[in-house]
Amino acid sequence: MTIDTEATTPTAQLDVAKVRQDFPILQREIHGKPLIYLDNSATTQRPDSVIDAMSDFYRTSNANVHRGVHLLSEEATDAYEGARSKVAAFLNADSTQSIIFTRNTTESINLVAHAWARRHVREGDEILLTVMEHHSNLVPWQLLAQERGCKLRFLDIDESGHLQLDHLDEVLNEHTRLVALTHVSNALGTVNAIPTIACAAHSVGAKVLVDGAQGVPHGPVDVQALDCDFYAYSPHKALGPLGIGVLWGRRDVLEEMDPFLGGGEMIRDVTLERSTWAAVPHKFEAGTPSVADAVGLGASIDYLNELGTAAIRQHEVRINEYLLGRLRELPWLTVYGPQDPHDRCSLASFNDNQIHAHDLGTILDQHGIAIRAGHHCAKPLMRRLGVMATARASFYVYNDLDEVDRLVDALFEARKVFGLAT
Ligand code: PMP
Repeated sequence: MTIDTEATTPTAQLDVAKVRQDFPILQREIHGKPLIYLDNSATTQRPDSVIDAMSDFYRTSNANVHRGVHLLSEEATDAYEGARSKVAAFLNADSTQSIIFTRNTTESINLVAHAWARRHVREGDEILLTVMEHHSNLVPWQLLAQERGCKLRFLDIDESGHLQLDHLDEVLNEHTRLVALTHVSNALGTVNAIPTIACAAHSVGAKVLVDGAQGVPHGPVDVQALDCDFYAYSPHKALGPLGIGVLWGRRDVLEEMDPFLGGGEMIRDVTLERSTWAAVPHKFEAGTPSVADAVGLGASIDYLNELGTAAIRQHEVRINEYLLGRLRELPWLTVYGPQDPHDRCSLASFNDNQIHAHDLGTILDQHGIAIRAGHHCAKPLMRRLGVMATARASFYVYNDLDEVDRLVDALFEARKVFGLAT
């Protein structure tokens, strides 16, 4: 696994008190209580260094990229392309040219659905997904299936929330063109065995797309070791800005793909009748890009590297051990997903047997605790679990064990509000 789920290597522990000082929003009070931000799987907060990098860009170097002949434009281009190099190193990508900037994970996946799959997937072909996918990695393939007449197949989960890898042979065959699955489940926390699945997919000639929206925030990601063909993620879930996304693809695969969007920046030559395309990655980046967001993304990678991705993973395991232990003390709570703290990212998806998840979310908010309640854009998974919704508390680098206790206290309080036994 390239997320070090065993976390066996001793690394420096995160100094959470120090980390917290870097995040101005954590000084806020919500309903008169200190903010406890446990909605990190939806989006994380940003440190000063990211906010400053973006505002410095606008204050000192703002210009459009690639086509200017003046110094500001050169500086902006260097900053934009410098961010691409940082992402490439962060993901251990084979080349900087294989990093494409998009708007978010959703757009990265749609790019592959349009620019790769529409050329390679025909009637009678199959795409393998899993029942735990976020709608972002489901709906684009449904649209493709409607258009192309291909078939969608699904790998199921077992009772512990793991994919049923022993059934992989039954759902993969010579018709499978693509296996598209999440690295880490946003609703269960399960970390999937990507290299094992990629090996099986490649053995039948299928390509592998990994939805890394929840993978990148939670530990070192090495796209080459994962052995996938595409890896998509949203920097806003790992301390970066909203509004920029990343797609890594194997260089040879990207090179033979069609463009996604047409317009300026992505062409080599244009006549009135036709056009030829720029080299990758620019072939996939039509129009003016989000330069300041790329600069912020670069700063977020610097920050994560300073903390150390292995240390982040160890912090998560520590949170998980404590969180799962504390939640097990509440007999009225069902906690979904793997029970081994090493086997999941630091989120807990749960239900009180008497209180609706939305009510829990509202009561916790009164205590200053931000969690998410709902289907987490994974409606098929909710159906598979037999629930309409869950409450989800997701932790990150600035959350500490004390906040786990505050969450548990508030879950007791919710029982009191409804006059239920504890
Ligand atoms: N996949 C997963 C697993 C996610 O958790 C999310 C965000 N909730 C997405 C995809 C979509 O990310 P975005 O909205 O940034 O495109």
